[in-house]
Amino acid sequence: MALIVQKYGGTSVSDVERINNVAERIIKEYKKGNQMVIVVSAMGDTTDKLIELMNQITSNPDPREADMLLTTGEQVSIALLSMAIQAKGYKAVSLTGSQVQIKTNDHHSRAEIMQIDTARLKAELAEGKIVVVAGFQGINSRNDFTTLGRGGSDTTAVALAAALKADRCEIYSDVDGIYTTDPRLVPEASKLDFISYEEMLELASLGAKVLHPRSVELAKFYNIKLYIASSFNDQPGTMVGGMDKMERKRSVTGVTADKEQVKVTVTKVPDQPGVAGRLFSKLAENNINVDMIIQNLQHNNKNDITFTLHSNDLDKGIKVIEKIAEELGAENVYIDNDVAKVSIVGAGMITTPGTAARMFNILGEYNINIQMISTADIKVSCIIEKKHADLAVKVLHEGFELDKLEF
Ligand code: ASP
Ligand code: MG
Repeated sequence: MALIVQKYGGTSVSDVERINNVAERIIKEYKKGNQMVIVVSAMGDTTDKLIELMNQITSNPDPREADMLLTTGEQVSIALLSMAIQAKGYKAVSLTGSQVQIKTNDHHSRAEIMQIDTARLKAELAEGKIVVVAGFQGINSRNDFTTLGRGGSDTTAVALAAALKADRCEIYSDVDGIYTTDPRLVPEASKLDFISYEEMLELASLGAKVLHPRSVELAKFYNIKLYIASSFNDQPGTMVGGMDKMERKRSVTGVTADKEQVKVTVTKVPDQPGVAGRLFSKLAENNINVDMIIQNLQHNNKNDITFTLHSNDLDKGIKVIEKIAEELGAENVYIDNDVAKVSIVGAGMITTPGTAARMFNILGEYNINIQMISTADIKVSCIIEKKHADLAVKVLHEGFELDKLEF
């Protein structure tokens, strides 16, 4: 008998027929003698709809009330799924984050799970019930509802698997695995049998929206293998786990583009020790994540500092940046929304020299201008004009022969 945590995404439970299909899949595993803990997202685009409603009332909602609202989506889907399982003659119980006691920190809308109480879960499992838990939500130290950030149900599933020491953690959605790039954009994309946590983390945080990045971090930390597959068919999916030797044979595993980037340039900042520290500490204090950073020495002891942030952070970021730019005696702040970040990721890069050069050559061949570059152990990212993003992904995918990947 195994303890299995399964997570079903919003599309997998978007209507009654799909909820019934998910119930059947769960029951099939349960009947083999397994204990089942199920995490579900809100039905379909419920969360988007709730956000739309909220935005019609105010552009600046109280974060506590926003989380109060958004947690309702998952409450609907857990109740309906439990009923569907019960209607098929099996025992099930739905639990909210607060009923389980999924304890998070106080950061509304991007809370992190700190601790999970397993007593209630274990008691329900011991009674032979299938336990259906609301994804994406927890409670803070005041017992107020918190949410884990968009797509956070994946993280709920992995955290539950860790807390319960589950034998398997399976993430089901409408995509049947992890691909070398977005198959909607590049039909030749190959499905990967296996991808390492490290590569998945890069892809997840670079804009491949298959998994919530935090869920991969947690899985890596607790060494939990994740199985990513579709709830609509029985095609084999992708296993996410520790880096394996085979994987290093391919220099590049995936290509991805993030179109939600903004490039900020602060011009003529005095060239003095401590200046960059002050600028970026201010951004960090305000919880604004900065990604690529380039500093260029101009004449007369002045620097231009260019960096990128996520477009969601721009409204908040711009005020902070303008204020600190003025304090530092910089000349101007320029914002460029018309950019995208295209990246290649692969654990094999470590042992394959020239991978970055090959990327730049491919982009050059297609006349795609590179504005900024950043490299890390297993990724290379370039900022390019937004209109070239899709083309860049296609030609890099082809150039690195990812359509011909052998496993
Ligand atoms: N319902 C939430 C969202 O749409 C959480 C999730 O789907 O994982 O972001
Ligand atoms: Mg999701």
